[in-house]
Amino acid sequence: MTDLGLYIHIPFCRSRCAYCGFYSIGTKPDDRFLKALEREMEMRSPDFKDRLVDTIYLGGGTPSSLTEDQLTELMEKVRQYFRIFENPEITMEMNPCDMTDAYLRHALSLGINRISVGVQSHDDRLLRKIGRLHRASEAEKAVKRAYALGFHNISIDLMYELPGQSVEDFRKSLLWAVHLPITHVSVYSLILEEGTRFAQLAERGKLLRPTEEESWAMYQDMCRILPHYGFERYEISSFARKGFRSRHNRKYWELSDYLGLGPAASSRIGRKRFTVHPGVSLYEKELLSGERPLEDVEPLSEKDEMEEYCFLHLRMKEGIPLQDFQNRYGRPLTYWYEKQVDLLKKQKLIKEEGGCLFLTYHGAALGNYVFEQFLRDE
Ligand code: SF4
Repeated sequence: MTDLGLYIHIPFCRSRCAYCGFYSIGTKPDDRFLKALEREMEMRSPDFKDRLVDTIYLGGGTPSSLTEDQLTELMEKVRQYFRIFENPEITMEMNPCDMTDAYLRHALSLGINRISVGVQSHDDRLLRKIGRLHRASEAEKAVKRAYALGFHNISIDLMYELPGQSVEDFRKSLLWAVHLPITHVSVYSLILEEGTRFAQLAERGKLLRPTEEESWAMYQDMCRILPHYGFERYEISSFARKGFRSRHNRKYWELSDYLGLGPAASSRIGRKRFTVHPGVSLYEKELLSGERPLEDVEPLSEKDEMEEYCFLHLRMKEGIPLQDFQNRYGRPLTYWYEKQVDLLKKQKLIKEEGGCLFLTYHGAALGNYVFEQFLRDE
């Protein structure tokens, strides 16, 4: 029986962060939304009755905006409609403001065994600037509380290249983070997503950006400090203590099947990718009247898939397993990419060892450039 990842999108946030391009709205999830989500499970699950769900990820938005009762209902429905592996990884993104004793205990009792906390920075001034509602001390207390109550697999998110963030600020965030009782850190540089407040400010030339030297210094601090404290960089933005790599995210990077539920959720099943349309009201209306939610379907050609296979695998420390590539596409990687591989090797951006092709330290810093080389012309 093949496995399946399940992603559930809870698109509700108390306020909009200035950098965020994810779909979410400013209300709270209500029973109508939960009912629609249940309908979607009921509608889609028969196609997956011979699959074993081994990872579940509640993302958003803010999944912890669900009340305890709503969370119970959601988890009950997941177990009712899908076959769940005996030892699943169940991750829930949480906002530090929601992580009360009672809420955490409740989540734990429902089998949620990994939480991901959007901590972002140790600096309250920066947190305010990017629109986060919590303070760093609250995030610290929330993480420690979760650990004390029994969550022993906690991931946090950190950001760098924020407007007004100095190299020293980011270094302090890293050093603070590594002393929290966590197992995993995802570190993201600020990307200006279209339509966000930061993108608008940048267009008007009003967003302070770090210099190239500062960005490079922050990047180097990240690569030096996190491994020094036992967090291995196993993916371009992800660092984990031994045994705590994200099982769910691995499915994305390895092109494994995952089913996304909820407005704006994406799925990948075999060579087909589909994304549900974002509007919550439309989603509820369609599902509650017995229709399938509107979705964009994107069949992937072998060429599209091969390109994705290359850059998603290159994101991971182990890189592209060359034999697996050949088994999957019938010819060795060099059949399509000989020139590119030679050039990237000469530039010392990729390296081949033990049957794998992977990014070097410098290659990881220039990831986008390397990935572009794997786009085929024809
Ligand atoms: S970053 Fe998270 S909390 Fe902020 S708006 Fe985006 S989804 Fe909501």
